[in-house]
Amino acid sequence: MIGGVATSALGAGSSDARAVAPLVQAGAPAFHSFRLGGFQLTVVSDGVIVTGDPKRTFVGAPPEEIASTLSASYLPTDRVILDENVLVVNTGSRTILFDTGSGLLQAYGPGAGRLLSNLEAAGIRPADVDAVVLSHGHADHVCGLVVQGRIMFENAQFYINQVDHDFWLDPARQQTPLKLFHEQALLNLLPIRERLIFIKDGEEFLPGVQALLAPGHTPGHTMFMINSGRETLAYLADLARHHILDLEAPRLEFIGDIDPGLCVQTRTRMLDMIARDRIPVLSYHFPFPGVGHVAKWGDRYRFYPSGMLTAADPAKPL
Ligand SMILES: [Zn+2]
Repeated sequence: MIGGVATSALGAGSSDARAVAPLVQAGAPAFHSFRLGGFQLTVVSDGVIVTGDPKRTFVGAPPEEIASTLSASYLPTDRVILDENVLVVNTGSRTILFDTGSGLLQAYGPGAGRLLSNLEAAGIRPADVDAVVLSHGHADHVCGLVVQGRIMFENAQFYINQVDHDFWLDPARQQTPLKLFHEQALLNLLPIRERLIFIKDGEEFLPGVQALLAPGHTPGHTMFMINSGRETLAYLADLARHHILDLEAPRLEFIGDIDPGLCVQTRTRMLDMIARDRIPVLSYHFPFPGVGHVAKWGDRYRFYPSGMLTAADPAKPL
């Protein structure tokens, strides 16, 4: 009866409250900044990509088990939605961008290809980027390099592992199911070849940025340790793509991996190191902004996302 009393009290002597606003179509904020030692890190979204039925693309467990793992995490069981989290590191003297999103490629649906507009929203001009680091040659990482024939980061030096570069540009890929990736590599990697530097495993090739070869997903797939002062963050690239399936069932194989067995070995070896050393991570395809920690959980892992603070932590001076 309390509700009834309140309603009649509100209704007495006044007109009904009306607040009509259009439904908003926009998703999450497009960028997120935080500090790592003396560096400023900004995760800029390229949007989301949608891939096929996970019960067909992940192998090594019964389809019902894959579906129940997803369903227990309140995720759809018929498709996989992955973010594209592009990292920009401002060291104070360099602006370094890691991976470039999907560009105008429509193969992953219409939700991606937003890097340029979101960089602008974050106040980062493509002309100010002086280094672009590529974790590997897949289309969802390189297609933002060259858009409609134009190099998007005109003042940048480009970095990639040579094994990966050569694999995707090899004409032998043309006759295989990897044809689309080969064609996109031609469109995006060839125009930048004059300004391309090949990076080696273990090398600190930019100040505070160390390459760590993590093969399997692709032959030269590389992750990066970013170090400033006493702080470190691991940019995982595609070491794990899905924050539930790749962590809670880390031995599942994915049909898109070039060497699925090696991918599982690399993933568990690297995640063991990251969990043991409590290193914060940024994962390219985890839910935006993809920043958090990975903990070991029996023989599996769990991702603990970091919150997006709405103001700087007063206990942690910049
Ligand atoms: Zn990817």
